[in-house]
Amino acid sequence: DEPVLSVRDLRVWYGSERGAVRAVDGVSFDLRPGQTLGLVGESGCGKSTLGRGILGILPPGAKADGEILFRGNDLLKAGPRQLEKLRGPELGMIFQEPLTRLNPLMRISEHFEETLRTHEPQLSKDEVRRRSIDTLRRMGIPPSRYHAYPHEFSGGMRQRIMIALALVLRPAFIVADEPTTALDVLVEAQIIRILADLRRSFNTSLLLITHNLGIVAEACDRVAVMYAGHIVEEGDAREVFSRPQHPYTRELLRSTISLRTTGLHYIPGAPPDLVAPPSGCAFHPRCPDAMRVCRRRDPLDVTTSAGGRVACWLHAPSDQLSREDTEPLV
Ligand code: SF4
Ligand code: MG
Repeated sequence: DEPVLSVRDLRVWYGSERGAVRAVDGVSFDLRPGQTLGLVGESGCGKSTLGRGILGILPPGAKADGEILFRGNDLLKAGPRQLEKLRGPELGMIFQEPLTRLNPLMRISEHFEETLRTHEPQLSKDEVRRRSIDTLRRMGIPPSRYHAYPHEFSGGMRQRIMIALALVLRPAFIVADEPTTALDVLVEAQIIRILADLRRSFNTSLLLITHNLGIVAEACDRVAVMYAGHIVEEGDAREVFSRPQHPYTRELLRSTISLRTTGLHYIPGAPPDLVAPPSGCAFHPRCPDAMRVCRRRDPLDVTTSAGGRVACWLHAPSDQLSREDTEPLV
């Protein structure tokens, strides 16, 4: 299968009083039809900026370069009107803070009718109704509530209705940024189920941005680990979770496990400053395995035996490193 999305050397930066914040710093990956890629990392590593950059909804002042090929067209070269046309029916978004809100004067049914009439005018009234009710039901909203007004629902239900409104268009590609953080466990399970449904039925591809490694293990084929604007490891989700290759991935997994058992989520040190990231491998000040070379030179991507990739000097061919390079960094 041709990738539905190919991101090549994407950079996103924005100005601050102290200088350019390099939030995404040379990211490349492919996503094939029906694939789910989990994007993980501590907050402030550039995950959300990457997701928004792909959809063309960066805050004013942010700049991007590189390539974002969606079905062969470079989204970075598309004009705002062209992008606006794609967002919704082709490029879906599920955010914790939805970009649009439910209109308090319109029934839920009217929201769905309007959305589908705009983007899929060929659907009959019956089809609109059937598809809308079906999508709502999968999100745990009973058909009996189809004609209710937004204020008749709880905040959590309204959020699920917003998600259903994004999903009812069956976009080819969806960015979901922390869709479950504010939701309860039941809703989390519902979202995972409906996303799995969508991909089975319509070959939808998903970029799932989350802190929750458990969800990634459950719902994703692949996982990409982001640190300081870089993807430091990418591969088959099961493989990465059972045999992490990058020291940061390993620490992230360890901290998640201790989060469950002791309630502590802790990797020593802090995520780096994206205005002035550490030289060489940005993880070197926190890395228990750091070597001298790590502070001096950027690690290159190395293909792993399991078909993933990792950017870490520990995996570089030994003929690229001198004896001095490999001395521990103290
Ligand atoms: Fe640690 Fe060096 Fe690998 Fe970076 S490149 S993760 S500092 S061993
Ligand atoms: Mg975020």
